[in-house]
Amino acid sequence: MALQFDSLRKNIVFLVVVLLLTVQGVSLYTTYLANKRLEEQQLKLQLLRAETLLQNELENRSYYTLAFAETVAKDSDLKNAFSADERRILLSLDNHRQRIEADIAMALDGNARVIGQLLTTDAQGEQAKTVLGQQIGEQFEHRNWLSQQSQTHFWLYQDNLYQLVLSPVNDQGKLIGYVSFGYKIDQRLVDELEKLISFHVGIGMVEHGQWRWIAKSERGNRRLEGFAPIAHVDDYDLVYSSYPLGNVNESSLIVTTYRTRASLIGAVSKDSAGLILMILVMCALSLVAAYYIAIIVTQPLTRLLRFSKAIAKGEYESHVDVGKSKELNLLAKQLDTMQNAIHQREREISRQAYYDHLTQIPNRNQFYRDMKSEQGALVVSQISICRLSQINDTLGHKVGDEVICEVAHRLKQLHVPLYKTSGNGFIVVFPNCQSSQIEPCINKLIRKVEASFVVQNIALHIQAHAGVTVAKGQVNAGQILKEVDSAMQLAKRMNVPYQIYDDQIDLNTLDRLQLLSRVKPALESDEFVLHFQPKLNLADNRIDEVEALVRWQHPVHGLLKPDRFMHNIEQTGQMKALSIWVVKHAIAQYLGWRKQGLDIKISVNISPCNLVDRDFCDELIDIVINQNNLASALILEITENAFIDENSNAMENIQLLKEQGICLSIDDYGTGYSSLAKLKSLTVEELKIDRCFIHNVVSDSTDQMIVRSTLELAHKLGLVVVAEGVEDEETLKWLLEHHCEKAQGYFISRPMPAQEFARWLRRSKGYFTQNSKQPRKKLSAKQHITANNSRTRQPQDFTLPAATVRNASVG
Ligand code: C2E
Ligand code: CA
Ligand code: CA
Repeated sequence: MALQFDSLRKNIVFLVVVLLLTVQGVSLYTTYLANKRLEEQQLKLQLLRAETLLQNELENRSYYTLAFAETVAKDSDLKNAFSADERRILLSLDNHRQRIEADIAMALDGNARVIGQLLTTDAQGEQAKTVLGQQIGEQFEHRNWLSQQSQTHFWLYQDNLYQLVLSPVNDQGKLIGYVSFGYKIDQRLVDELEKLISFHVGIGMVEHGQWRWIAKSERGNRRLEGFAPIAHVDDYDLVYSSYPLGNVNESSLIVTTYRTRASLIGAVSKDSAGLILMILVMCALSLVAAYYIAIIVTQPLTRLLRFSKAIAKGEYESHVDVGKSKELNLLAKQLDTMQNAIHQREREISRQAYYDHLTQIPNRNQFYRDMKSEQGALVVSQISICRLSQINDTLGHKVGDEVICEVAHRLKQLHVPLYKTSGNGFIVVFPNCQSSQIEPCINKLIRKVEASFVVQNIALHIQAHAGVTVAKGQVNAGQILKEVDSAMQLAKRMNVPYQIYDDQIDLNTLDRLQLLSRVKPALESDEFVLHFQPKLNLADNRIDEVEALVRWQHPVHGLLKPDRFMHNIEQTGQMKALSIWVVKHAIAQYLGWRKQGLDIKISVNISPCNLVDRDFCDELIDIVINQNNLASALILEITENAFIDENSNAMENIQLLKEQGICLSIDDYGTGYSSLAKLKSLTVEELKIDRCFIHNVVSDSTDQMIVRSTLELAHKLGLVVVAEGVEDEETLKWLLEHHCEKAQGYFISRPMPAQEFARWLRRSKGYFTQNSKQPRKKLSAKQHITANNSRTRQPQDFTLPAATVRNASVG
């Protein structure tokens, strides 16, 4: 269809209306045709009926008049009157005339002479009168009719037209005359006939080609004034039929029955009008019905539309009722399913957008969202798990994920808002936290995270750093994240458990950048110094080994510990220069002590990045072996990370160093997640258990288990074990009891400059021996404490404020 509405409802209304109108139109047209046919038939029928009735009536009239005349002709009284006088004839005639109310009665003698003639006259509104005819005594002008007695004749006499019958009167077989009766053909007759046949009746003649009415009904009808049945009559819209009655003189007498079509088909037209009215009413009803059908059809659709709009708006609780229609119910059900699916997906998307998929705790986006509504004082802390990438690399991502989940689980137990903002970072918010409570809160947090746990039979000691900031008033999430991150980075650099943010931190960052640019000149101008921390041989209480730890004697910042600069040196590729510097100075120190009669082996820390560098190894061998031939004087401390990547050439270089007779020690053992079996293949001499396992070894059964099993395995592999971070007597005693070979830590001595070390060693004589062939003097734990408290507790290399130095293990 060419015409298309933009609304379904309008389309339905339009279609139904067009359909109904077409049906009604066709039915109207066929009804119209049928009516037309019926009308014609009815017209014909009515006309025929009228015509027949009229003919019958006229024939009956003439028949009865004729029969009457014949009967009267046999009347003896009349016969006698023929032979009597004129008065008797007239009396008898009148007598008979009255019986049939004839308009004319005549008696003729045998010679056709009028012997009696009676006429009725028209008297308007009065009783008609009977008068004597004027032809009495005269010859009857139509002698020829006398031989045609059984016929009706039309006689124009004195301006009146009569229908006459004639009957001979015989007396004893002899014709004695004629008797005649007749009626006027006049207005009265046509009126009577009209009444009888319910059709207009007209009688007229054609005289000299002209029509003349004698009488007709509907005289007053002006419209029909000019009507003549011989002429063209279409103008009058008439139905008519004419037939000749007979002749008057030379003219023919014609009777016409007629009626206007309008009057005839009035009933039929009324029917048609009713039909049209009915059709119009039907159309109106159809229109209303079409509208309601459209509403019924489109209402559920409208509801479905509203429903789908609600879905689009995200109103997922809405429902739709579409009535009983099976198809629409199916559609509604589908929409409902779609709604649920969208809702589910949206929830899932929103969950993915605002929650960390691994730990199912809110993420950074949620943090931003929550902070919008926050007002007032908040303590926000960012916790970062250390060395997570190493766990991933060595033990696999599954273990790494377990570690993250475990940390999330522990942090959840604090029952404060918690967010995961990065791969290894969490944000913990302490609402309504007083500044005096910050430290206890954060310590609790760190303790929670750092408690060791076992994954796949591997004991892990998770370490973490935290950055803390205090937000006040209108909270700015972005600023908070920046601050806690700066603070956390600093905590990492300084190797402290946490750092509270202040404006100075950013200045520190600047400082670090400035420091960095000065590394090269500092190396050249010997701003670096080595401090030495002794390793105590527990079996014979001897000190014949120290670890060289580098410090930067900065002209502005004073003595800086490695965590202030080491990370940046490593990142900027200056580690080779520093390590070479350290090795050279360690050898120089060894030689210096040897001159003083001290044979102290020196452990040097070598960065993992040095070990993958073949040039570095060649240079190292050149200095140690070629130039000084001091392979046995040096121990290289390497962390497990150095050989994590099996594809790197670190293993090859380690092998090279081994071949030159250089001793290797695995530093920070236990934090790098490599197995002892692997270390065996490295053929190292020494294993240094990281201080995080030693720190609580006396009280913590897990740490005890770890240290014990490490000792056992290491001994089986023929390795010497050094326990790092021994800070008290009990720990030292425990290690002694468990046959740990060496101990290192503040309880024995803090790192100190070379001269200080020599003095310390001299002062400690009697407690610690050095390379003596004498049997050693056994040191009781009590004596040990005294020795340390009195001589080594002064922190010569101690530059950080005491409050920020961790007492526990340091990552
Ligand atoms: P490290 O190799 O594990 O060195 C031991 C660190 O533990 C030293 O910190 C030492 O002061 C500290 N320490 C010793 N005993 C105790 C104790 O009883 N309790 C506690 N809490 N700490 C103790 P330092 O000197 O700040 O060195 C930190 C790290 O810097 C070293 O860890 C090492 O990885 C690195 N480092 C130091 N010097 C050098 C170097 O010359 N070259 C390289 N590549 N790295 C170095
Ligand atoms: Ca070390
Ligand atoms: Ca260490």
